[in-house]
Amino acid sequence: MTVLDAERARAWLGRADELISLHAEELTALDAAIGDADHGANMARGMAAAVAAVAALGQEEAQTPAAVLKPAALALVSKVGGASGPLYGTFFLRAAGSCGQLPELGAGAIAEAVEAGIGGIVQRGRAQAGEKTMLDAWYPALEALRAHDEPAAAARAAASAAAVGRDATAAMRATKGRASYLGERSVGHVDPGAASTALIVQALADVLDP
Ligand code: ADP
Ligand code: MG
Ligand code: MG
Repeated sequence: MTVLDAERARAWLGRADELISLHAEELTALDAAIGDADHGANMARGMAAAVAAVAALGQEEAQTPAAVLKPAALALVSKVGGASGPLYGTFFLRAAGSCGQLPELGAGAIAEAVEAGIGGIVQRGRAQAGEKTMLDAWYPALEALRAHDEPAAAARAAASAAAVGRDATAAMRATKGRASYLGERSVGHVDPGAASTALIVQALADVLDP
């Protein structure tokens, strides 16, 4: 069974960085429609900083998923100007907290870590499901993770669910974040943060279910 250990946590961030860079223009185009056209650049800069922070860790410092995710979280908070930096930073910080000293996470512990991360996003951003934010990709991902006992299957299902959640944000009216300034005119566009979340969850699936 493929579990999430420190090495795969590192690979997860690396793959997320890769996918975000590949799709940076798309993320920026989504943000151009309902925000300020910086989400691709914000996330590319943030993920690159996260990967660099993890690369700077010594082998003996990076023995657990938490030890990998925590410096990544701090890099995201400090390097992304914009709403998404503190929100993703808090996500990974809380997820790391949930992992504790565990050397490896199975599907249940991964779901718990994602649940803790979502709790951080909610506490910081005060959004709920259906407000057209990254949460609308994270919640379906969590539900899918919980429905599987095997990490590879769980992550793959979560990636599909996050993509469905991302697409469903098109029909929503934004009531949080910059897009909320557009009110009804935000309808018809996919939320950029939900799109980046779908990529981050896809990265997890690519690592756990290669
Ligand atoms: P900014 O809006 O400051 O330019 P970004 O463009 O990087 O920041 O990120 C925008 C994304 O952040 C949105 O698409 C949305 O998914 C997410 N977001 C904004 N506010 C919130 C919130 N209160 N709760 C959850 N997610 C939010
Ligand atoms: Mg923006
Ligand atoms: Mg901005």
